[in-house]
Amino acid sequence: MKVFRSRAGGVATATAPKRGSRFIGVDVGGTKILGLVTDGLGAATEDRELQPTPKVPSELAPGIVEVVRTLAERNPGVVGIGVGVPGLVDHAGVLHYGPNVQGVLGLDIAGRLDEVFGLPAVAENDGYLAALTEHRLGAARGHDHAVIVTQGTGIGGGLIVGGQVLRGANGFAGEPGHMLVNRFGHRCACGRTGCWESVSSGAGLANLARDVVEEGKGGEILAAAGGDPDRIRGEHVSAAFVAGDPDAVEILSRFSWWIAQGIGSLIALLDPSIVVLGGGLSAISDEFIDGVSSQVTDAVVGGRYRPVVPIVPADFGAESGAVGAALRARDFVING
Ligand SMILES: [Zn+2]
Repeated sequence: MKVFRSRAGGVATATAPKRGSRFIGVDVGGTKILGLVTDGLGAATEDRELQPTPKVPSELAPGIVEVVRTLAERNPGVVGIGVGVPGLVDHAGVLHYGPNVQGVLGLDIAGRLDEVFGLPAVAENDGYLAALTEHRLGAARGHDHAVIVTQGTGIGGGLIVGGQVLRGANGFAGEPGHMLVNRFGHRCACGRTGCWESVSSGAGLANLARDVVEEGKGGEILAAAGGDPDRIRGEHVSAAFVAGDPDAVEILSRFSWWIAQGIGSLIALLDPSIVVLGGGLSAISDEFIDGVSSQVTDAVVGGRYRPVVPIVPADFGAESGAVGAALRARDFVING
């Protein structure tokens, strides 16, 4: 059976890069490409570049190259490049598919960067890189078994197993957003129905709000979306929640229940010592994570007979993927 294997490492010798070496970390988001320069060891950022993500699939690779070029020209000490993309990225740095980068198939991102810049380059799933950042520098530090869930428009994630971010046979491991939780649920960005993401991400929050509107409630949220249910976004719900709208409270309560179900399943599967929640949604309110935590005990097998797994907010925000990309770039230069 075919398995996507790693390309050879960036350099022949497994030695640490010279003092003063710098690494470019790039995070490709749905709307923006963020690039930054670090020492590949910590999170201190020495330079950054932000550009819009091209809308046309064939422009994605040139868009990434442009961000890297801008940073490389300003930072002559750069010796390696890491890129995070939201999708299935194999061990060789080829993006095979991403529900949020529709139309980009089989794109050899690492190969393209290597070719253009003549520097070791590596590409990874963005959730993998966010998990690497939290494990090495953030909220999951010191935990050999951890689950990192990042809630944005969709759900990203990474699984720390035995002290390493789990990669899987092809490099595709750690996509908790596409676990099926409800056969009769909502349509997911991946085209399937009932993925966890469709009820537990920003898009999922909007789906749950539409359910409530269909039940004849949620008037304030509907008004904020201009009266069109299809235009309801997660932000409309969180704004109504902050304003004390009881229908928004109801929606958030369903939302946290679904999140707890998914986390309970992940705990049953992986037995982590911590769960880290990242992304904008965990910032909705201080009580939000507490609300999720209180429901997880009932959502995991034997919940009353096992240690309580702390659920904590991520230490890193929007830059966790790009910081992780630079960490990974340094690792790649040393070990491949
Ligand atoms: Zn899905």
